[in-house]
Amino acid sequence: MHKRLVIAGGGPAGMMAGLLFARAGVETLVIEKHGDFLRDFRGDTVHPSTIELFDELGLGDALLEREHDEVIDISARIGGRYYRVADLSHLPVRHRFMAMMPQWHFLDFVRDVASAWPAFSLRMDAEVTGLTERAGRVTGVRLADGEEIGADLVIAADGRGSVLRDAAGLEKQDLGAPIDVFWFRVPKRRTAHNETAGQFAPGTVIAMIDRGDYWQCAFVFAKGGAEKIRAEGLEAFRRRVAFAVPEIADQLDAVASWDDVKLLSVSLDRLRRWHRPGLLAIGDAAHAMSPVGGVGINLAIQDAVAAANILALPLSRGEPVDALLGAVQKRRLFPVRVIQAMQRAVHAGVLGPTLGATAQMEAPLAVRMLDRFPMLQRIPARIVGLGVRREHIRSPMKKGAIPME
Ligand SMILES: Cc1cc2nc3c(=O)[nH]c(=O)nc-3n(C[C@H](O)[C@H](O)[C@H](O)COP(=O)(O)OP(=O)(O)OC[C@H]3O[C@@H](n4cnc5c(N)ncnc54)[C@H](O)[C@@H]3O)c2cc1C
Repeated sequence: MHKRLVIAGGGPAGMMAGLLFARAGVETLVIEKHGDFLRDFRGDTVHPSTIELFDELGLGDALLEREHDEVIDISARIGGRYYRVADLSHLPVRHRFMAMMPQWHFLDFVRDVASAWPAFSLRMDAEVTGLTERAGRVTGVRLADGEEIGADLVIAADGRGSVLRDAAGLEKQDLGAPIDVFWFRVPKRRTAHNETAGQFAPGTVIAMIDRGDYWQCAFVFAKGGAEKIRAEGLEAFRRRVAFAVPEIADQLDAVASWDDVKLLSVSLDRLRRWHRPGLLAIGDAAHAMSPVGGVGINLAIQDAVAAANILALPLSRGEPVDALLGAVQKRRLFPVRVIQAMQRAVHAGVLGPTLGATAQMEAPLAVRMLDRFPMLQRIPARIVGLGVRREHIRSPMKKGAIPME
């Protein structure tokens, strides 16, 4: 089999790229190793910039018909007091909120939209294990069952554990992520407003994502510390959680064994070169993001848009695109650098000191200033909600194709 474009990985980057290239008439196959989009947890955030992109596609309202909560401001509780740090209500877009939508609903939506384009195909339950090459150029992918699929271009969107970036020999610069995360769920009473917030107590940081009738909790700890925490026992773990968030203490029986607590290893890295002839890496495969700020999905989607803006038209005409791959990296490297630098600053300046603290802490000056001067809350809102160097849809829509109703 030969396709004009093969995309490895059906996460936010791969599915969005699949939609846009197929919309431009590029025969596209997305290959996803899981059988569905249901796995937890990869972030529930659909950023205002992403909603705006769907508005540009004429699909913003259809996206927002899917079940979601709307988050207008972001708070952190430090030393027992809530501080408001971001206010999205002034963003210069039509939808001034973060849609909290379980990622499987979002990816289902992108698949449904993309499937309306005849050039789009998706193969689930299929794992890409390597590349095929001729004379130093990538010519396609190899699957776990040995099948080879040829492509004019391969996009590696297979996430932070990307096998394709390794197979392509693309060199990675590790920026160091000093944290790992335990994920678990705790029952919750439904509230009128989404109550997602960060909780900071001496020695403990927990991000609590409001999913209606349960909290998805991210317990942050120093990298490599999982075994030590497990060795201290589940009761000690529950006590640490209850100390930081006393109001969920009664619900912690829901964490009945370590099987209910999933370890997620956090990475922060980026490739020196995102491409080689025949292959381009985007999203976490090109630059693995920390969960800090909840912005990795936005970057992944914006990468996909930039790639389609630069490559979809020539690919649809069957023209060679190797010479254009560097332009995608050039366009996207700046926002990635800026956001990763901010994530490193938060790792070092906020998470590190909090995890190391033994006594009650005061909120950092920046947090107190944000809370005190609401105008300032527009700055983090812009960075989280829209990102840096925001992309717009410039890739073409093939005439005669079938748009979604
Ligand atoms: C603990 C944690 C929490 C986070 N929370 C948030 C958040 O709230 N908001 C936010 O914006 N960002 C968050 N992030 C970052 C975010 O998850 C990533 O930046 C984003 O998902 C990257 O999208 P992607 O499409 O590049 O990769 P991924 O989302 O990782 O998708 C890659 C896809 O490729 C598939 N795949 C992998 N290998 C293969 C293969 N060999 N063959 C076929 N398919 C393959 C995977 O199954 C997956 O579907 C979080 C990250 C972590 C670690």
